Amino acid sequence: MKVLESVDLKKYNTYGIGGIAKYLISPSNVDDLECLLKYLNEQNTFWYILGGGSNVILPDEDFDGVIIRLDKLDEFSIDGDIITAGAGISLGKFVKNMLDNGFTNYGALSGIPGLLGGAIIGNAGAYGVSVFDYLISVTIMDDLGNIRVLEKPDINYDYRYTEFKGGKNIIVAATFQGIRGDVAEELEKISDNMAKRRSTQPLEYKNAGSVFKNPPGASAGYLIEHAGLKGISVGGAKVSEKHANFIINYNNATSNDIKKLIDIIKGEVKKKFNEELELEQVIVKW
Ligand SMILES: Cc1cc2nc3c(=O)[nH]c(=O)nc-3n(C[C@H](O)[C@H](O)[C@H](O)COP(=O)(O)OP(=O)(O)OC[C@H]3O[C@@H](n4cnc5c(N)ncnc54)[C@H](O)[C@@H]3O)c2cc1C
Repeated sequence: MKVLESVDLKKYNTYGIGGIAKYLISPSNVDDLECLLKYLNEQNTFWYILGGGSNVILPDEDFDGVIIRLDKLDEFSIDGDIITAGAGISLGKFVKNMLDNGFTNYGALSGIPGLLGGAIIGNAGAYGVSVFDYLISVTIMDDLGNIRVLEKPDINYDYRYTEFKGGKNIIVAATFQGIRGDVAEELEKISDNMAKRRSTQPLEYKNAGSVFKNPPGASAGYLIEHAGLKGISVGGAKVSEKHANFIINYNNATSNDIKKLIDIIKGEVKKKFNEELELEQVIVKW
């Protein structure tokens, strides 16, 4: 398994923030992951699972523990119309592999960064499709290395939420229903969606996607914009002028800059619209 020491976490998250981690380990397979977890627990060593780092606000402080990345668990296989994929495959590659095999039902997820495990944890979605729509089961490993398969009806999930968020279970793989469709037509839709993303999202800056969930029947971006908050900044973090539900790292922002900005946004939106914005991004503490 690959072990890196004294790792600058800024390179491992899309905000480009964070301190130094003592170790970053990528287990080569599920058995390696099990051995690693057992060892770390015996040693009372802290660990944290990081996917693509595209939905997290990592702390500024150094981490005296082990960051575990599952990027080597990237298998992808098809049996009839059932797809099995490892948690470490990038979501982009997962969608591409499905399209290459004639399955069009996850095309709408194209353009969402990160790894499949991270997408499952947050039930990521776009353009009317979410990961859980066609999910059949999830294979999880608990913090003692025990494996369990959970079927979708036994999993608590919702809009950008699953029971796994913030917990200690690790997603190692999942199975999905593939649905065949017109691939050329789907590729056209993907190309339109990508153009929409480029014109409405501040992709030229470091960011971690939508900061807040949309409240029922409302748009977080609309509320933030109409609270007059577009363009306000704390340190190097700024509410994007292009899309108010994005915070951008425009000038060496720290984690604290981003968190302070979040508190200001929540306070102002509550004052103006009496709406409690709920974070979509994950504030990590160690
Ligand atoms: C430009 C941009 C556009 C985006 N657009 C969208 C969008 O359209 N829709 C959308 O839903 N999201 C979007 N996002 C947010 C983000 O890409 C998704 O939420 C993504 O699925 C997160 O995956 P990740 O691997 O980066 O997770 P990370 O950020 O690495 O992790 C997120 C959380 O999941 C945990 N985690 C990760 N992998 C595992 C695992 N295998 N087992 C257990 N816990 C795990 C982490 O500990 C962390 O708590 C966007 C982000 C960016 C930067």
